Amino acid sequence: MKILIVEDETPIRETIAGYLQQEGYVCEEAADFPSADEKAALYEYDLVVLDITLPGGNGLDVLRTLKKTHPETGVLILSAKNSLEDKITGLDLGADDYLTKPFHLSELNARVKALVRRRFFQGSPTILFEEIEIDPSNNVMNINGQPVELTKKEYDLLLYFITNQNRVLTKAAIAEHLWGDYMDLADNFDLVYSHIKNLRKKIVQNGGRDYIKTVYGMGYKFTGE
Ligand code: CA
Repeated sequence: MKILIVEDETPIRETIAGYLQQEGYVCEEAADFPSADEKAALYEYDLVVLDITLPGGNGLDVLRTLKKTHPETGVLILSAKNSLEDKITGLDLGADDYLTKPFHLSELNARVKALVRRRFFQGSPTILFEEIEIDPSNNVMNINGQPVELTKKEYDLLLYFITNQNRVLTKAAIAEHLWGDYMDLADNFDLVYSHIKNLRKKIVQNGGRDYIKTVYGMGYKFTGE
């Protein structure tokens, strides 16, 4: 689960990033308008936490970019106390929610969780794929009703596969989804391979079908076909 945090006040940005990382999210940061707008255009995030008043531009323009390039990305606006207009414009432009500064981190966490749930689960309590069921409240998949514990990365990987079923996912896309763009991608390919191997084993050994297909020279595809 990858989150971009756009906030020019360094202590706030780092506090949010540290907190959400502890919660198991992959976080990237942008401290001004140009870098936020560039990241919003180039990379794929599950959620963007977006400050409005930024050096070099307006956060609402980052939101406009996102809606053009990645309309499915969730957006949580951070707004100053007396900026009702920004909130209204933000929601009009398609932001999902907003938080007024100052806020408690637990409040932020609750909003983030709600948005992630909305994005992946579209309001339903679980995702069902054939005999596999995923519950967003813990890192567990049920296979034919039997719980199988997953690591956080395996859980993210399974969710990524199921929400992109029948699509070929490159190793690079998977690595970026699991770790963000901080790590050297080449080093990550081995890690991608071993997480996929472990996830596949857990599914098959617990009575599930092998849905992860290797597409030679390209990547992987999760498919029931
Ligand atoms: Ca600001």
